[in-house]
Parts: sequence; structure tokens; C-alpha cells
Amino acid sequence: MIDNLAPLRDVIRTHDLRAKKSFGQNFLLDLNLTARIARAAGDLSVADVLEVGPGPGGLTRGLLAEGARKVLAIEKDPRCLPALAEIAAAYPDRLVVIEGDALEVDALEFLTPPVKIVSNLPYNVGTELLIRWMTPAVWPPFWDSLTLMFQREVAERIVARPGSKAYGRLALMVQWRANARIVLSLPPEAFTPAPKVSSAVVHITRLDTPRFPAKAKTLERVIAAGFNQRRKMLRAALRGVHPQIEDLLRAADIAPTARAEEIGLEAWCRLARHLDGDTS
Ligand code: SAM
Repeated sequence: MIDNLAPLRDVIRTHDLRAKKSFGQNFLLDLNLTARIARAAGDLSVADVLEVGPGPGGLTRGLLAEGARKVLAIEKDPRCLPALAEIAAAYPDRLVVIEGDALEVDALEFLTPPVKIVSNLPYNVGTELLIRWMTPAVWPPFWDSLTLMFQREVAERIVARPGSKAYGRLALMVQWRANARIVLSLPPEAFTPAPKVSSAVVHITRLDTPRFPAKAKTLERVIAAGFNQRRKMLRAALRGVHPQIEDLLRAADIAPTARAEEIGLEAWCRLARHLDGDTS
């Protein structure tokens, strides 16, 4: 027992919260498990937590029981609000629930730094939210860490290393400005209803400055071009990026015959700097 509230199965029955596919709903009903996910986010007592998609509130309760200073939860499905109101009443002044679409709500005005984002994300918007959180207009972003549930395959793409099939834009975008590791793996049966695939929790902590210098726009553009045609050699895949791409690749110490998936983060950053005429 992590709190005195009703078991989640009862909550779901009382409020008639049958999972809807359109909302990407796969609920976690084991409160010991949600408390574990909350602990993976580190010390919550000193942070405001942003949770996207609290649903019936399993992870929300884990976060509050683990001592989160404050939780701001954004939920799109209005059916979940009465269940969440019961949690808010049990933890006075510590839970704020906003009904809305996390892609549209500006959470910043409700949060005081430091901010940790912890969510069992709806699969249909998970990657888009991650990309937004990783590519703000200015770095560092408003958050310190992200502790997020993804489909296992997406989690593997986030932590992937050069040379692997999973390595690509997502790995580079995240690892350029953060440390990322998988902290928990979950089988489909951990969820109700069980999805078709396994899931994993990724913990991402941001760096104050990017790991290697480069302009974000240039880096994103060259990486996108490279991986859009990942089977091709870079001199062909990057032809559209710069007319003298072969010379620039050589100047950046990258073999023009190499393929995108063989190139590490530092070399991509070097190439981006050469593209911007910065050869220092
Ligand atoms: N956190 C709960 C748990 O762990 O049991 C529910 C997780 S379920 C995978 C995803 C939740 O996100 C659902 O409650 C769904 O209604 C909500 N959701 C889906 N799209 C959303 C969006 N765009 N903005 C906010 N919430 C959304």
C-alpha cells in the first residue's frame, strides 16, 4: 500500500474508465511499479513534476507517495478528471490537473524550476513530445530530467550507439545534449489492456551545454539528410546539403564512402561546424 486511496481496479470500475484506443490508453494498475518508476526520476521532493497523461492516476499516486513537491498533470480524456480530483483531495496543494492536449497546453506558467518530467506517455504522441522537449529554441530547456515510458523499440532508438540498426536521428538528437539510459523494462502484461509490444522506461538527464559544439539547425539538417538515405554512402546521401560535400567530409575527417549509421556524434558535430565554415 503506497496510500490510503482505493485500488486502481476499483477506481476504474467506479468511474467507468474503460481504456480507449483513440487516447492511447494502456494503464498501469500496480502501484508498487508506479512508485518504482517515480523513484527512477531521482529526488522528487525538490522538484515540480510534469506528468503527461495521468489517466486514472497510477503514476500520479506513485509520484506523490514518493514525495514530489508538486505534480502538474495534463490529461486529455475528461472521463479521468473525477478520479484525479480524489487524488488531489488526498494530497492537498500538491496536485494540479489540467484538462487538455499536452501538445497545446503551455505547462511552463504552472511550473517552478527545477522541473522533472515523468510520464507513461500515450504512444501516439510520445515521440513528438520527446522531440519538442529535446529541441527548444534555447538550451538549457525548462526541465532537468525526463523519465518516460516508451515502446521498447523507441527506447532502444533513444539510447542506441553507432553501428546498430536502432542508431539514427533520435539517438543523436537526445545524446547531443543529454545522457540517456533505459532504467526499467516492462512486459505487455504490466498494462491494462496489454499492448502488443514490450515497453521500457528511459531516464534522460540534460547537460548544461551540448556535448560538442555545433549549430542545432545545421546538425539536425545534416543528420536528417544522412539518415533519410541510410543505405547510401554519405557523399551521395548528403549531395543536396552542400555542392562540395565530399571535400567537407574529408576536412571533417569522415570517409565520404562511410554510411550515416557508422558516424558518431562527435564527427557529426564536426561536419556541421565545417558546413557552417567554423573549422576551429
Ligand atoms: N499514466 C497512466 C498510467 O500509467 O496508467 C495512463 C497512461 S496511458 C499510456 C496515456 C494517457 O495519456 C491516457 O490517460 C490518455 O488519455 C492520455 N493522453 C493521450 N493523449 C494525450 C494528449 N495529447 N495530452 C494529454 N494526455 C493525453
